[in-house]
Amino acid sequence: MDLRLTDDQHQFRRDVCELLCEESVRAEASCAFSLAPDTEPGLPDVYQRLGERGWLAVNWPAEYGGLGKSMTHKAILTEELIAHGIPDIFHTLSIDIVGLAILVFGTAEQKARWLPRLARAQSVGCVLLSEPAVGSDLAALGTVAEPQDGGWRIRGRKIYSGKAHMADVGLCAARTSTSDVKYHGITVFILPMHTPGVVAEPIPTLLDERFGDVTLAGPLMTTADVLGEVDRGWEVIGRLLTIERTGIELEARGRRMLKTLIERACADGRLADSPYGERLVELDAQVRAGRLLSWRALSSIAAESADAAHGAMAKWHTSETAHDVATLAVEMCGLVAALAARDDDAPPDWLIESTIREAPGYTLQSGTSEMMLSMIASATLGL
Ligand SMILES: Cc1cc2nc3c(=O)[nH]c(=O)nc-3n(C[C@H](O)[C@H](O)[C@H](O)COP(=O)(O)OP(=O)(O)OC[C@H]3O[C@@H](n4cnc5c(N)ncnc54)[C@H](O)[C@@H]3O)c2cc1C
Repeated sequence: MDLRLTDDQHQFRRDVCELLCEESVRAEASCAFSLAPDTEPGLPDVYQRLGERGWLAVNWPAEYGGLGKSMTHKAILTEELIAHGIPDIFHTLSIDIVGLAILVFGTAEQKARWLPRLARAQSVGCVLLSEPAVGSDLAALGTVAEPQDGGWRIRGRKIYSGKAHMADVGLCAARTSTSDVKYHGITVFILPMHTPGVVAEPIPTLLDERFGDVTLAGPLMTTADVLGEVDRGWEVIGRLLTIERTGIELEARGRRMLKTLIERACADGRLADSPYGERLVELDAQVRAGRLLSWRALSSIAAESADAAHGAMAKWHTSETAHDVATLAVEMCGLVAALAARDDDAPPDWLIESTIREAPGYTLQSGTSEMMLSMIASATLGL
C-alpha cells in the first residue's frame, strides 16, 4: 500500500481547500454549527458548487457527474469537508453509500436516472436498513415486499435513517421470500422517497442532524427498482456496509477535535502538564494509526478487493479513538465543553459541545464496536 499522494491528488486537495476557505463557505460552515435549537443543517450551498465542478462524486465516471478520479481523491474531499466544518452527512449518504452502491450494482437505466442528480447535489440519498427491533442482526428484518400489481408492495417501518425526511431516494431492504437461511430472500430496492405510501418523519436526537422514521405503507416497486438481484440483497448489503466502513470520516473527526485540544493545551501551557500532555500524545498516535487503517480499507475498495475485516478494523479503531478524544475534551475543557457554538461566550468555531453530543453514535453507526470485534475475530482468528 503506497500512501503517498500523487501530484494530481495534492493539487485536488489544494483546489478543494481554496474553495472551502472562501468567505461565503466559511460563513455557511459557521452557521451550520451554531443553529438555533430545534433546527438542523440542510444541504449546504457549497455542495452545488462542488457538484458543478465534478468534485462531489470525483471518483465516479464523467458520464455520471464525476471526474473519473481515484478513491483517494474522494477521501481527500471527505477529510477536507470535515476539517473545514462543512456538514458531511449528505456526502456520506448520497455519494459514498447510496450512489456508490448504485454505481456498483445498478443497471444502466438506474445509473442514468440517479447518479447525475446525486453527483450534482440535486437529489439526496438515505439508507433504509434499521428497524425498530432490528439493528445489528439486519437479516432478521421484518419489512416485507409482497408480490402485487405486477411488482411488490413494501410494508414495514425503518428507523434511525439519517436525513430520510429530506431524501429523494433510499436504499431499502425488504424480505421478498422466506427461507430457512435468514440471509436468503432479502431484496434491496431503490426507493424514490416521494412515492405514494412512503411517509418520512424526522426524529429529534442528541445530534444536530435528525434521523428519519419511515413508514412504508405499500409503495409499489417494480423490477426496475431492484438493486442487484431479487432475493440476493444480502450481497448488496454486505458490500454496502463494507464500502461504508472505511472510517475515513471518523478519523477526520477525531483529528479535527484533537487539533483543537492540542491548540488549547498549547495556549494555556498544559501540553507539558501530565496527565493531559501524555493523553494527547497517545491519542495523536491513535489518530495517526486510524488514518493508516482507513486508507488501507479504502485502498482495498479501490482495488475492488474490498476486505470486510479491514473495514471492521478501521471502523472499530477510528470510532473508539474519536470517542476517546471527545471524552478527553470533556475532562480538559470542564464546563466550557458544554457551551454551544451559538453561545456568546463560546470560543470562535467551537465544535467541542456538538462533537460530544455526536460521540456516542460513533461506535454504533454502520455497525457497533462489538459487531466489528466479532467480525475481526471470525475473519482473522477463525473464532
Ligand atoms: C449516528 C447514527 C446514524 C445511523 N444512521 C443510520 C442510517 O442512515 N440508516 C440505518 O438504517 N441505520 C442507521 N443507524 C442505525 C445503526 O445502524 C444501528 O443503531 C446499529 O446497527 C445498532 O443497532 P441497534 O441500535 O438496533 O442496536 P442492537 O443491535 O440492538 O445492539 C444493542 C447492543 O447489543 C450489542 N450486540 C448486538 N448483537 C450482538 C452480538 N451478536 N454480539 C455482541 N454484541 C451484540 C450491540 O453491540 C449493542 O451494544 C444509525 C445509528 C446511529 C447511531
